[in-house]
Parts: sequence; C-alpha cells; structure tokens
Amino acid sequence: EMVDARSVMDSVIRNFESAYADYTFRQMRSEPAYIRIVARHLEQIFVILLDNAVKYSQESKKEIHVSLYQEDDVAKIEIKDFGIGIPQADLPYVFHRFYRVDKARSRKQGGNGLGLSIAKRLVEKYGGTISIESKEGQGTTVTVTFPIMK
Ligand code: ATP
Repeated sequence: EMVDARSVMDSVIRNFESAYADYTFRQMRSEPAYIRIVARHLEQIFVILLDNAVKYSQESKKEIHVSLYQEDDVAKIEIKDFGIGIPQADLPYVFHRFYRVDKARSRKQGGNGLGLSIAKRLVEKYGGTISIESKEGQGTTVTVTFPIMK
C-alpha cells in the first residue's frame, strides 16, 4: 500500500489539535512523501510519538514541532517537544519493552513503557529507522526515516 505520509500526518495532527486545545502543533516542514506502508500503521506511529510529546511536556512549554520532508533517498519525520526530556543514561533503553524513565515521574503520566517499542517494531517492519535525542529539562526529538518510493 502506497501512502501519502503528509495526509496521514495532517489528519493525526488535526485530531490532536482538537483533543489538546491547550497545545500548539506547528508543522515546520510538510512535503509530500510516499511510503510503502499500511496507512493505519503509519498513523499508529504518529499517535505514539505525539502522545509522548504531549504527555512529557505537561508542565513545560506546550508546543510541539512536526516535520516531514525528503532527504537523500529517505522520507524523514521529526517530532520535537520542549518537555522534561530524558536523562542521557536512560536514552539507550527507551525503546525496550516496559522501560520507563524514573518510575515516580512516569507514574503521574500513566503508560506502560510500550509505546516506543511498538513504534520501533512498526518502523523497522517497513525498513525504516527510529532514533531519539534528548536533553533533560529541555526537550526531546524523535526522528523516523522510511525508504522513499520514487
Ligand atoms: P506508553 O506505553 O503509554 O507509551 P510510556 O510513555 O511510558 O507508556 P514509551 O512510549 O515506550 O512508554 O516511553 C518509554 C519511556 O521513555 C517513558 O516512560 C518516558 O520516561 C520516556 N519518554 C518517551 N518519550 C518521551 C518524551 N517525548 N519526552 C520525555 N520522555 C519520554
């Protein structure tokens, strides 16, 4: 199935905008990009990542930056928040099943520590990559790439 990632992204963002009216979702870059994927899987990836961005910026700046563009031979998706961030020491583990940073801080936000492991499994199923960059107290950026269909 060939999916226009931009239209999936637009519709997920619209849903988040109505569910979280106190947040600003800014589309920094939005280019058409066709990916061979099941549309609801791509949707699930966006939902997991935006859900985390919202959850972990609750007491910080409620702004989320989303980008979709082509670079070299991949489609790139970036989701950036300005929330609590992740300590360097925890970063290697956040894609592991059931891993949660600091039980106390995470308990408030709810969740099972499954979101990112599911996102990673889905992304890799379609030949993509997922990576995370973060600074504690400053925010987090998750980058997903997929091979592009020409
Ligand atoms: P759920 O299963 O509901 O997604 P979760 O958010 O705890 O629960 P993951 O999405 O797998 O699980 O994330 C793992 C851990 O990584 C989280 O518990 C959180 O500590 C940290 N984390 C993930 N995304 C972010 C983010 N955007 N900002 C800060 N911390 C994050």
